[in-house]
Amino acid sequence: MGTPSDKKLINENGLRLDGRGDEELRPIKISTDILERADGSAFMEWGGNKILVAVYGPREAYPKHTQDIEKSVVKARYNMAAFSVDERKRPGPDRRSTEISKVISEALSAAVMVEQFPRTQIDVFIEVIQADAGTRIASLTAASVALASAGIPMRDMVVGCSAGKVEDRIVLDLSKDEDNFGQADLPMAVLSKNKQVVLIQMDGDLSKEEFARATDMIMKATDRIAEIQRKALSEKYKIENLSESQNG
Ligand code: ADP
Repeated sequence: MGTPSDKKLINENGLRLDGRGDEELRPIKISTDILERADGSAFMEWGGNKILVAVYGPREAYPKHTQDIEKSVVKARYNMAAFSVDERKRPGPDRRSTEISKVISEALSAAVMVEQFPRTQIDVFIEVIQADAGTRIASLTAASVALASAGIPMRDMVVGCSAGKVEDRIVLDLSKDEDNFGQADLPMAVLSKNKQVVLIQMDGDLSKEEFARATDMIMKATDRIAEIQRKALSEKYKIENLSESQNG
């Protein structure tokens, strides 16, 4: 969230700069099985975001002292490529990527049946190749698909979305300009069936009523996004079944 400025974010027709209505999502596409060596992978395009996720595991946790005798440890590593933003981003981890890795790891742990794999770790490598606002919830949504495509047992999928405030209006799925020049940004993620909240952060200020409207919009949107996740996975299994039947 940048400093609110005089930049117009709603046009004379009451639409947002990219032509969307208040509750409209940017286009979202997800595909699976992108990488050969990973146990599971996904590629997501969400608006201008392009994100690749590779999943490895469960495999023995290393170093040994990081092992949990009761469950698997989900280790997500979020990284933004140097060329993913307008100005070159300094490569390597920084405070922001460390924070995002932590909140994504925690959110995914709530969905994976970690108790089935004691002493192991599940690595989730997230590479943001092009960033366009909302990368943490897009990464989380894609990571959930990559985990499922690795065949890792999960109680539910994690699905994320953000809402925010621009020119005193509550709108869904902030674009880059809306994130930079808007008044608030609320990224949130839930387990898709029971709607348990597994990530919620807020930048800027919202009144109680605005917060309620924003979370309500997000909840409705997560159903639409979960459908896109399901489609990506059903495509994968359709293709696998097809090749199995062709092989005899
Ligand atoms: P999120 O991507 O989850 O919305 P932020 O609110 O921290 O996370 O970032 C918003 C957007 O700002 C990012 O999606 C990206 O487009 C841009 N951004 C983040 N970090 C940098 C950076 N170091 N340099 C340039 N742009 C950045």
